[in-house]
Amino acid sequence: MDRFPTRCVHAGTIRDEQMKGLNSPIFTSTSFEFIDRPETIYPRYLNTPNEKAVAGKIASLECTESALVFSSGMAAISTVLFTFLGKGDHVVFQHGLYGGTTHFMERDLERFGIGFSVAPSQSAADIEACIRDNTRLIYIETPSNPLLNITDIEAVVRVAQNAGVISVIDNTFASPANQQPASMGVDIVIHSATKYLGGHSDIVAGAVAAGNQHMDQIYETGLNFGGSLNATTLYLLERSMKTLHIRMERINRNAMELARFLDSHPRVKQVNYPGLPLHPQHDLAARQMTGFGGMLSFEVLGQDGISFQKRLNLIRPSMSLGGLETICSSPAQTSHRHLGPAGRKAEGIPEELIRLSVGIEDAEDLRADLEQALG
Ligand code: PLP
Repeated sequence: MDRFPTRCVHAGTIRDEQMKGLNSPIFTSTSFEFIDRPETIYPRYLNTPNEKAVAGKIASLECTESALVFSSGMAAISTVLFTFLGKGDHVVFQHGLYGGTTHFMERDLERFGIGFSVAPSQSAADIEACIRDNTRLIYIETPSNPLLNITDIEAVVRVAQNAGVISVIDNTFASPANQQPASMGVDIVIHSATKYLGGHSDIVAGAVAAGNQHMDQIYETGLNFGGSLNATTLYLLERSMKTLHIRMERINRNAMELARFLDSHPRVKQVNYPGLPLHPQHDLAARQMTGFGGMLSFEVLGQDGISFQKRLNLIRPSMSLGGLETICSSPAQTSHRHLGPAGRKAEGIPEELIRLSVGIEDAEDLRADLEQALG
């Protein structure tokens, strides 16, 4: 198999037999002729040429047999959970997930008769202790949002395999450039492709990568839920993933530099970044990741989080993550807002925590902006 950067550029590309162009053509049709074809093609059936091109690239990057692309990360997450969980089933979630996933779990699972437990920590032992006779699935996310805790992927896979349950990971924060969970035995890998896969803060998309056996089932639910993506956005996603490897190289390097700078600054309380040697799970992160990613979080001493963010010039306080530009946010007001103060306290998320999504600018310019805002 070609190496990762080569797969970023080439995997899945549609061969343009007519014009011999290098890029996948964009197939805008929503109506395809059906006579004398083995398969009926329709965008919501997740089988258009552009869907297959992007899915092929994602499967190649995540080292799985197949993949599917959806209209958002939450469409991917909800489709996977409702594929394998039904009335009377139970699912175990790790502690500390993306706020939207927690909201979905709390609002939408029990009303369909699906029970769930949230493990008290990210540890495989705590996750195992939550397993019941009717548990069907374990769901993890590492590094976690927004505290950058690390879950031991191989240990969780062992727990899942011993219990005979499906393992699912949200790999959004790492991206396949830094972490390939299927190679460690995880059954199903999910992405908010809005983030690093899309990479330019201009599309919303989601993806699932898995073996054919699981994917066949996910496909059937996906058809009914209808969360397909249009051809033009699929093309943009394919185009973006061609540079995933070089974007992530730069992002990893910039984030490491900024984490070191913040960690040594007297006005910064605590920096959460798995690349720092003092991060409690640094060794584990170094074992299961090839780069530490572009996400970090910290608290500022003597200034509230919003006042600090207003003082930044280059780094814009903005929603989402994974783009070319460095942005910051307050999880208490954005990704984890709906948890409320009590929910955030239970998750260990400080109200004044600031989350940084590091981009590809010059690291020195970013450091200077943080320095002037810290005062
Ligand atoms: N997973 C993670 C880790 C996220 O950060 C997000 C969004 O912020 C999602 C999933 C949901 O993705 P989307 O907004 O594309 O639905």
